[in-house]
Order: sequence, then C-alpha cells, then structure tokens
Amino acid sequence: MASVVLLVVVVLIAPVYIAPLFNTYTPMKDAKIKESILSLARANGIPATDVYEVDESRQSNRVSANVSGLGRTQRISLNDNLLNRCTSEEILTTMGHEMGHYVLNHIYKSVVYFSLFLLVGFAFLNWSLNWSLVRWGERWQIRGVTDVAVLPLAALLLSFFFFVTTPIGNTWTRTEEYEADIFGLNAARQPDGEAAVDLKLGEYRKLDPGPIEEFLFYDHPSGRTRITAAMRWKKENMSILDEPSAVPQPR
Ligand SMILES: [Zn+2]
Repeated sequence: MASVVLLVVVVLIAPVYIAPLFNTYTPMKDAKIKESILSLARANGIPATDVYEVDESRQSNRVSANVSGLGRTQRISLNDNLLNRCTSEEILTTMGHEMGHYVLNHIYKSVVYFSLFLLVGFAFLNWSLNWSLVRWGERWQIRGVTDVAVLPLAALLLSFFFFVTTPIGNTWTRTEEYEADIFGLNAARQPDGEAAVDLKLGEYRKLDPGPIEEFLFYDHPSGRTRITAAMRWKKENMSILDEPSAVPQPR
C-alpha cells in the first residue's frame, strides 16, 4: 500500500507540486503556437485553458512536453528545448502525442498496472525470502523476516525481480507510447514534423535497434518504428493532406 501511494505521488502529484521546485514554469509567450496547441486540446476534449513553458534547458537539451495534473491542476507544459529547437509542425505533433497519453488515460492505467506489478513483486519477495531463510537462515544467523539483518537479502531479491521483469515493464510503456504516437498523428496530422522530432530523439536514443534489443531495453518505440508509423500514416492520408481545405467546397 505504501508503494502504491508513493507511485501515485510520483506520477500524479510530483509533476504539479514537486517539479516546480526544480524548474520555473511560466505561461507560454508565443501567442500563435499557444493558440494552435489550445485548439488541438479543445478538438480532443482536453479542458486546458493555459500552456506553460518550463526551463529544462538548465538540465539537458532533450525535447519534452506533457499533460499533467488532476482536476483543476490540469495543465499542458512544454520545455524550452522543444520551443527553441523545433518547428511549429514538430511542436504540434509532440503535443498531439502528449494529448494522446491524456485522452487514452495512460496515467491511470499505468497506476493500476504497476500497482499489480508491485503486488506480484512483494509476493515474490515474501516467497523467496522464506525459501532462502529455510535453506540458509541458520548459517547466515538470520532469525526470520522480522530480523533487521534480512534487509540486504530483501533488497537483493527485490532488485533481482525488477531486473528480470524489466522487459515486461518496458513493453507496457512502449505500447502506450506507440498508442500515443498514433493518436498524435491522427490529431495533429503532421507526419513530417513527427519524423523530424523522432530524429532529434535519436540524439539520446539509438534510432535503429534490432527487434530483440527493442523488446528488452526500449521503454519507447525506436526511432525507426516511429518514423515508419509516421510515413505509413502520410502515405495513407495523402488525399487529405493534398486538399487545401478539408471542408467540401460548393462547386
Ligand atoms: Zn509519450
């Protein structure tokens, strides 16, 4: 229960109440981009009325954005790297992706999923601790699970569990990220911007891993997977993109 509470604090409360301790959030200055982001938000049923920019260039040059918060604290934030290094098409497709996380309720689904994951982890810990103590408890002079001396063993076993199950957690988040990509392509309709941003992410994520490497280590789809999805979307939507207006014109 304590772990689930900490999990909720990290994913739901920290972005709104703790992140501002380390960085400065200011209302977005560029009115034109802000309006196009809010328009995209309204079109997708997101009740946000303001967009914030955050000075994450203090920590790195990574481009990033998110939709965070609960109820009245809901907000859209972009980091200054995204604003400084990207075109408006790239910014919009990134926001489409982040809005996908929001509309598809990824945060809540992840809380449920990782809570179950923790439950399994602690069940494994309980079972493996007792098993080890029956076998070696006497030699290690550990009296039982309530003996403080068991702590290093508990840390070792729990670390082992999370290490071995890393690909499962990665696959969960990678699947959600892919869903958000597809949502973003449909919402923002900027396949070229999407591909360009994916190349920028290649600065710190290997773009073209092998399929097993991607399955084991990637918590986001690889650049190759994302760019392929963007170009596939573009090919299938050429007819819409070519038209100057999606609204049928009177002949
Ligand atoms: Zn994402």
